[in-house]
Amino acid sequence: MQSFPVFLKLDGAPVLLAGGGDAATAKLRLLLAAKARVTIVTPAPEAELAELARTAGATLISREFSTPDLENKKLVIVATENEANDRGIAEAARAAGVTVNVVDRPALSDFTMPAIVERGPVTVAISTGGAAPVLARQVRGLIETALPKNLGDLAGFIDSFRGAVKSVLPTATQRRKFWDRFLSSAAARQVLSGDEGAARRDMLALLNRSAAGEVTGRVAIVGAGPGDPELLTRKAHRLLQEADVIVHDRLVSDDILDLARRDARRVYVGKARSAHFRTQDQINRILTEEAGAGHLVVRLKGGDPFVFGRGGEEADHLRAAGIEVEIVPGITAATGCAAAAGFPLTHRDHASAVTFLSGQGREGGEADIDWRLLAQARHTLAVYMGIDTARQARTRLIAHGRSPETPVAIVENGTLPNQRVIRGRLADLPDLLEREAVASPALIFIGEVTGDPIARTAETAIERLALAL
Ligand code: SAH
Repeated sequence: MQSFPVFLKLDGAPVLLAGGGDAATAKLRLLLAAKARVTIVTPAPEAELAELARTAGATLISREFSTPDLENKKLVIVATENEANDRGIAEAARAAGVTVNVVDRPALSDFTMPAIVERGPVTVAISTGGAAPVLARQVRGLIETALPKNLGDLAGFIDSFRGAVKSVLPTATQRRKFWDRFLSSAAARQVLSGDEGAARRDMLALLNRSAAGEVTGRVAIVGAGPGDPELLTRKAHRLLQEADVIVHDRLVSDDILDLARRDARRVYVGKARSAHFRTQDQINRILTEEAGAGHLVVRLKGGDPFVFGRGGEEADHLRAAGIEVEIVPGITAATGCAAAAGFPLTHRDHASAVTFLSGQGREGGEADIDWRLLAQARHTLAVYMGIDTARQARTRLIAHGRSPETPVAIVENGTLPNQRVIRGRLADLPDLLEREAVASPALIFIGEVTGDPIARTAETAIERLALAL
């Protein structure tokens, strides 16, 4: 870190501003906004600066700087627009032990001023350590667009309830949870959309329930996507940063867990056959107990929680136990892997349906599958957990009429840096898996859409030609 970032309180503090041009005027505005007691020294004040100083009650001394001007000053900002003067004042300030900034001359400055984004009391300061001011401006632009316009109102709203919340919720932990909960509530959204009346009503209701101990924990069952952290939803990201406890399993990558709040507790409920493995009953019990203790629990699952993720079973169990549940969808492996491998799941010429199926039935038995339906042409199959049962799937599909030539693609570790895509034809699927030593997690796609796009286009053209003749 080039500089130590701080926000300085200047309310009523004596500050010297040396200079009278545009740069000095801009700094005067900032200093006045921070309620500093400003003395300006300059032989030639421009009219705008003089007017601003007069209306704001700042002291304007119309002469050259002299060392005694530094007496009792907390800060000096120098903007004489003359290098020799700037340097002279900066050296005098340093000799007098007063912290100094020279506008646009970081080498002469003890501190620099960041680019800022302001929303009422919420201030974001951006520095590149002097390396690239242009980049700082770009970053400011990005933050400007990312922060809601009324964020300042939200800060003001929270401030206005701070006393009430403190009197009702005595411990800091209770209050942190309350505010986390408030920020994801309808009341916070109402403040942001400008409906303060409704927000106050909802806020009071929330506070009353919290005071009566009626606000218990809750569980968010969150899809983490197929692996690439950039495929997380914004909601998933926000919940990860709010969670007290994160209950996750093996498909969730470390890169994603790294996005969680640092002091969130992580519970790994792992991998079949490992020491950390928990049965579904045990997982349900962990979720119920943690939420019952008043925590915000994020149950993080690979892909989408409602696609072969047992999210439905967990949600049912929690609801039956009277616990509030929220479901946050994720990008499921089929859509994530297809996108990463570059083929569509449906295509007007090649597939009018797609089926997501599991290669494994309950407790590892054979899945209950209508092979006749799946064997139809122009139908994409995305087989989850299908490595061990691929031989049987291949045999059944061909027996029910699917062409042995149907293209297949296997995507291993889809969307991750170690992704592999292996292509072939349905007849060879089991051999392909064996030869390439495909390991879990891998998704098997069966269908014309996975074929070579050039061959696919040519085929369509020939079919169309044949139809036309
Ligand atoms: N709920 C998850 C699926 C869980 S079942 C989802 O919506 O994606 C686990 C199976 O998903 C794995 O056996 C594998 O077939 C598939 N899978 C999950 N992540 C994958 C990935 N990154 N690449 C390939 N397949 C994946």
